[in-house]
Amino acid sequence: MLDSEQHYQNIGATDATPDMIDAIVAEGAKFCEEVLAPINQSGDQEGCTWSEDGVKTPTGFKEAYQQYVEGGWPSMNAPVEHGGQGLPESINIILSEMVGTANWAWGMYPGLSHGARATLEEHGTPEQQETYLTKLISGEWTGTMCLTEPQCGSDLGILTTKAEPNADGSYAITGTKIFISAGEHDMVDNIVHIVLARLPGAPEGTKGISLFVVPKCLPDANGEAGERNAVSCGSIEHKMGIHGNSTCVMNFDGAKGWLIGPENKGLNCMFTFMNVARIGTSIQGLAAAEGSFQGALTYAKDRLAMRSLTGPKNPEGKADQIIVHPDVRRMLLTQKAIAEGSRAMIYYAAQQADLVAHGEGEDQKAADEMLGFLTPILKAFCTEAGFEAANHGLQVFGGHGFIAEWGMEQIVRDTRIALLYEGTTGIQALDLLGRKILMSQGASLRNFTKQVHKFCQANEGNEALKPFIEKLTTLNKEWGDITMKVGMNAMKNRDEVGAASVDFLMYSGYVCLAYFWAQMVKVAQEKLDAGTTETGFYTAKVQTAQFYFDRILPRTAAHAQMIAAGSDSMMAIDEENFAF
Ligand SMILES: Cc1cc2nc3c(=O)[nH]c(=O)nc-3n(C[C@H](O)[C@H](O)[C@H](O)COP(=O)(O)OP(=O)(O)OC[C@H]3O[C@@H](n4cnc5c(N)ncnc54)[C@H](O)[C@@H]3O)c2cc1C
Repeated sequence: MLDSEQHYQNIGATDATPDMIDAIVAEGAKFCEEVLAPINQSGDQEGCTWSEDGVKTPTGFKEAYQQYVEGGWPSMNAPVEHGGQGLPESINIILSEMVGTANWAWGMYPGLSHGARATLEEHGTPEQQETYLTKLISGEWTGTMCLTEPQCGSDLGILTTKAEPNADGSYAITGTKIFISAGEHDMVDNIVHIVLARLPGAPEGTKGISLFVVPKCLPDANGEAGERNAVSCGSIEHKMGIHGNSTCVMNFDGAKGWLIGPENKGLNCMFTFMNVARIGTSIQGLAAAEGSFQGALTYAKDRLAMRSLTGPKNPEGKADQIIVHPDVRRMLLTQKAIAEGSRAMIYYAAQQADLVAHGEGEDQKAADEMLGFLTPILKAFCTEAGFEAANHGLQVFGGHGFIAEWGMEQIVRDTRIALLYEGTTGIQALDLLGRKILMSQGASLRNFTKQVHKFCQANEGNEALKPFIEKLTTLNKEWGDITMKVGMNAMKNRDEVGAASVDFLMYSGYVCLAYFWAQMVKVAQEKLDAGTTETGFYTAKVQTAQFYFDRILPRTAAHAQMIAAGSDSMMAIDEENFAF
C-alpha cells in the first residue's frame, strides 16, 4: 500500500532493499520475542529501585540493552558520518513497534536517546556532535529530555530552571526537573540530558527559553565518561504503569551544560526532540492495540462460555469458544481495526519523515507540512484508540483480564501514560485545531483533504470500493465545513476552539483512519482480483475495513454534533457551582 520499494528508491536509500528489510524485521522480531518479551512482566513486577548510588533497573534490562547495542540496533538509522548505518527512519519505526509491543518500559531507554540524538544532529555544534552524537548512536550512552518542572508541564513558558554563563563558555544549570524518563539508570556509564532553562535576563514566557546539553559525567580528554557533573536523581516516582522505566526527579545544582542552538530559541530546537518523541508515543498506542489483540485473539479461540445464539459451534464441547459471540467479535475487530489502521497511518507518516530528512525542494516542504499536520493526530488519536483497544483486550479475558498473570491489565496500565506525556490529548487537540489548522487559515487541512479527494475521485468507478468511497467523500467534505464553522465562531469567542478541540481531533482521527482503510481495501481487492494465494489475509483486510466503516466510523457523527453544540454548556456553569 505504501509502495516502499519505490519510496526508498526515490530517497536514494539503495541499501533499503526488500531483502534487507525482511532480514531486519526477522532479526528484530527474534530479539523482541526472545529477549524483551520474557522480561516484560517481571520488569513490571520488580520495577526500578532508587538508592544513593543510583537507579537499578529490573533484572535482565541491562543485559538486554547490552545485546541491543552489540546487535548494532541503535545505529541503524543514524548518519554514516557519526558511525551510523544510514538507513531511513521509517525502517526504525518498524523496529520500534516490535520493541514497544514486546516491552514498552524497556523500549523507552533507547527511545529517548533517539530524540536526544536527533536534536544534536540538527542543532548541535560540530564539537557537541563529536562529543555526544557518536556515543548516543553507538548506544554506549543514553539520552533524556528534561522539560517538566514541579509547577509546569504543558505550559513550559513558566519554567524556572536557570542557566548562568561560566567563564569558560559553559553554563551553570540550576533547578529541579520532574518526571524525567530514563533520567538515571544502570544500563550505561553516561546519560546525556537535553535540558530547557532560562538565561539571566531572558524574556518571560516561551520566548526566553534556551536549550542545553548537560551530561551526567563530564567527557574526559579521551571522550569517555569522566568526572561526575552536579546533576543527580533525588528520587523516582511510584506510578500506575511502565514500572520498568525510571521516572526521575532530577536535581541540577550548578551542573555544567553547553548551549544548543541560539539563545532563547530553546523551544524551537526542542521541537525536533518532541516531534520524534510524539511519533514514538503514537507507536505506544499501536503497540497496545496489537499486543492486547494478540492476547485476546488467542484467548477467545480457546475459552469456552455458553452457546452461540445461532446454535452450537463446538457440539462436542460443553460450551462454544467465546469467539463465536458477536460482542466478543466486536471487541476483537475493534482492536484489529485500530491496530492495522494506526499502523498504516504511522508508517505513512514515517515515510514523510524520510522525505523531510532525505528529500529536496518542494517535496521536502510538502512532507514537512504533512508531518506537522498529522503529528497531533498520530500522538493523540492513536494513543486514545490504542488505550481503548487495550481495554477491550482486558474485557475479552473476562475476570482473568483483571488478574496480573495474564498480562492484559499491564498493557492497560502501561498505555495510560501515552495519553498524558508528550503533550496531553487536550494539548495536542489545541495544537491541531488552533495552531496547525486555524492559524494556517485551514491550509494544512485542505492539503490533506485534497489528497483524500483525489483518491476518492480516482476510485469513483470502482464497484468494490463504492461503499467506502461514498462515506469517505461525505466525511472529507464535512471535515472542511466543520472547521469553517468553528473558525467563524472562534472569531466571536475564542473558547469555541478549546470547546471543540478534542472532539475535532477524534473526528479527524476517525476520518484519517477511514482514508487509510480505504486504501488498504483497494490494494487487497486488487490482489484478490489478481488471484492471490493469500486470500485469507486480503479477505480479512476487506472485512475489517467493512467493520471499521460500519461500526466505528459512525462515531464521527456524534463528534460532529458535539462540536456543533459549541462552548455554552461548558462555560455557563459558575466555577463555585461545580461542587453542588
Ligand atoms: C511517567 C511519566 C513520564 C514522563 N516523562 C517525561 C520526560 O521524559 N521528560 C519531561 O520533560 N516530562 C516528562 N513527563 C511529564 C509530562 O510530559 C507532563 O506530565 C505532561 O506534559 C502534562 O503536564 P502536567 O503534568 O504539568 O499537567 P498540566 O500541564 O498541569 O495539565 C493538567 C491538565 O490540564 C490540561 N490543560 C492544561 N492546559 C490546558 C489548556 N490550555 N487547554 C486545555 N487543557 C489544558 C491538561 O490537558 C491536563 O489534563 C512524564 C510524565 C510522566 C507521568
